[in-house]
Amino acid sequence: MKSELELMLQRDFPFMKQNNVDEEKNLYRCFGCDCGDGWYELLSDCCRQISDRYAEEGVPVDFVPTQIKEKFGTLRFYYGYEDAPCGIAAFDCLGSGTSVRFETSNESVDEKKQKLRQDIADIVRKAEERSKHTCEICGHEGVLRTDLRWIRTLCNSCYDKHKVAIENSKNRS
Ligand SMILES: [Zn+2]
Repeated sequence: MKSELELMLQRDFPFMKQNNVDEEKNLYRCFGCDCGDGWYELLSDCCRQISDRYAEEGVPVDFVPTQIKEKFGTLRFYYGYEDAPCGIAAFDCLGSGTSVRFETSNESVDEKKQKLRQDIADIVRKAEERSKHTCEICGHEGVLRTDLRWIRTLCNSCYDKHKVAIENSKNRS
């Protein structure tokens, strides 16, 4: 995502702060959002909902994004919590496009916190769902395209442009 949009996310949501230094091990903090600009809106909405949910609960934000990227044409948003760092363990199934997660262990947290984390899981899952019909380039309504060199979610117009570009590169070679 272009730096202008990354900066907006960091400005609006302190938990989205990046930290591009050698010692940093968190992939999100090092590389930011590894996806197209068209998903800025849905990421921003997702962060807004997370932030609002904490405000409603009246507790400080302990949500930690660990990796945000495009995979098989849709969004993957991995995260953990300050007291429960989450790896980025997940299986991505190419055929169905589903992603199986190992949720952060909730054993040591109280009921209120569990409910909060359940709601956050739902918010993140909905953002990932939304990416399945949001053009990754421009943010308009899109569908998953499986006939390009890479699987991508694109609107009709970005899809056509992409096809033309592929045809042109074929003709040149
Ligand atoms: Zn588009």
